[in-house]
Amino acid sequence: MPATETQRQPEAATNEIAISVIVPIFNELRNIPTLHERLKQTLDSDHRLSEIIYVDDGSSDGSLELLSDLCRSSERVKVLQLSRNWGQHAAVLAGFAAARGAVVATLDADLQTPPEEIPKLVDKLEEGFDVVGGWREDRHDPWPRRLASKIINRATSAAVGIEMRDYGCMLRVYSRDIIDQIIACGERSLFIPALANTLARRSVEIPIRHAKRIAGESKYKPMRLLRLAFDLLTGFSLLPIQLVSLAGTFVSLAGVGFGAFLFLRRIIVGPEVEGVFTLFAILFVFLGILILAVGLVGEYIGRIYMEVRRHPTYVVAAVHGEDPQRPGLMRSSG
Ligand code: UDP
Ligand code: MG
Repeated sequence: MPATETQRQPEAATNEIAISVIVPIFNELRNIPTLHERLKQTLDSDHRLSEIIYVDDGSSDGSLELLSDLCRSSERVKVLQLSRNWGQHAAVLAGFAAARGAVVATLDADLQTPPEEIPKLVDKLEEGFDVVGGWREDRHDPWPRRLASKIINRATSAAVGIEMRDYGCMLRVYSRDIIDQIIACGERSLFIPALANTLARRSVEIPIRHAKRIAGESKYKPMRLLRLAFDLLTGFSLLPIQLVSLAGTFVSLAGVGFGAFLFLRRIIVGPEVEGVFTLFAILFVFLGILILAVGLVGEYIGRIYMEVRRHPTYVVAAVHGEDPQRPGLMRSSG
């Protein structure tokens, strides 16, 4: 039917782009020329249509101006300008919303993870994965940073329930499906690799090369890293607050035990000095109850928080009986 034909046209047009590459940019002026050159060459070697989306995350060093120049000279380049510095993950999310590719890749601007690895990740994705992450096998970062990453990585693996060696690596590729689901979550600030893995049916990581930062410095000072870690921990599980509740229960039980001990001691040995320790026992019981109460309140707030952030409880992977001509509509049996 011609009517259906025209209806389907816009969708066909959006599917034309095979690969979208998203690069968050925060004061990376000195890296941009090399980055763009290498990225362009990599994408040109793949003959499918691609787009590059640079997301300027409130740079103040002239990165934005340079990017908009690139944008003017090339059709495939798009630049999103964020109103201020929203953080790397927020910038990547903004890129996701604008990306039209069937496969979406993310890449850091500092060339620590080489753009030349993208085709390798895309090939892996096409074997039937939803998410392919890079794993920086031979990492060139200072050791305190590597140690911090190790700890965060363990915590993330536990919270997400999928063991990965390198959640921090932002050279990753995602299927269109996962990108749509991430957008539908309506998330604000979060750790994209972890969210993607909670949504993915099949995810995998493959080793990639890693280099020292060529120019500029890391935007992750210790405090920033710590905040990302907290965001991660409270964003993906209620475990921390549950541990507080658990600690409260133990303190309370210890208080009761101590009280019982003092009671027996009083019967067998006689009263202790002025009943000071009895006071301690009672104090412990109440203190424990207090901590528990704080933990419980925290738990409820945590749940409300989860609700407000609208994490999906489940995702419908397929709808059977759908009219193939008009996706989203149920086929009538007439
Ligand atoms: N970035 C960003 N906004 C920020 C911090 C970083 O867009 O607030 C970008 C930055 O320009 C780079 C990427 O995120 O492209 C990774 O940053 P960086 O190399 O400093 O992180 P590291 O390699 O130290 O983890
Ligand atoms: Mg870096």
